Amino acid sequence: MKHLLIVFLCSGLLTVACKNKQNAQPHLDAPMQDMAGETAPPPPPMAIEETNNEVKIIAIEHATALLEWNGLTIYVDPVGGAKAFEGQKDPDLILITDIHGDHLSLETLQELNAKNAKIMAPKEVADKLPAEFISQVDVMNNGDTKKEDGITIEAIPMYNLREEAKNFHTKGRGNGYLLTMGGERIYFSGDTEDIPEMRDLKNIDKAFVCMNLPYTMTVEKAAEAVLAFKPKQVYPYHYRGNPDVSDVSKFKKLVNAGNPDIEVVQLDWYPKEAY
Ligand SMILES: [Zn+2]
Repeated sequence: MKHLLIVFLCSGLLTVACKNKQNAQPHLDAPMQDMAGETAPPPPPMAIEETNNEVKIIAIEHATALLEWNGLTIYVDPVGGAKAFEGQKDPDLILITDIHGDHLSLETLQELNAKNAKIMAPKEVADKLPAEFISQVDVMNNGDTKKEDGITIEAIPMYNLREEAKNFHTKGRGNGYLLTMGGERIYFSGDTEDIPEMRDLKNIDKAFVCMNLPYTMTVEKAAEAVLAFKPKQVYPYHYRGNPDVSDVSKFKKLVNAGNPDIEVVQLDWYPKEAY
């Protein structure tokens, strides 16, 4: 993609360069290619930067992530106060999955410079936001699709299946999110087990999948689900449990034993911890 863009930019610049030259020298019949080799200036680096469609991913902590794409900054489940986002750009879009403290922090929203951000959230989250945020909130329920700043956002269900865990995340309350941006489909599971809606996902480029007990699922179940929907890349996240941290290296082994083509990408989701 990058190469195509560079080629496109170059050819655009060459056309301009050629036109200018034609204006200056009326009887130019030299072949285009020869001229190009001699006169074309290199494309300015800024032009490439501006049209770079690659999505940059920054792990903040646990379930909190930041994406940058096309000049936009997207915060997913911003918690941890403004200090967790020190040095980062202010958000243009905020996605909140659920009401729990590791996903929704009113203090963090208030501390951040978030007044220009659109906030996508399920109804139960929106109901907890103070009045100052109401005009920014766009409520999304499971199954809803919205478009914001060129990003298509789909709200995917997230809920527990195990009887003993059903009260942690009841079906219909929280949202996972599927973002289509820059030609990529990026899925954030939110807090969920290996629900059919996850297993049925199609054409996912990057999948952020939770795995921790007792709140979400085991690494075995997470691996099973990932093998079912076959994302190109999977990012284990949200894996600090109570009392144990999930064994993400085991998750990677299970995924790659089942399908070596799925890349497991390990980011540092717990910068303050030893694991
Ligand atoms: Zn959580």
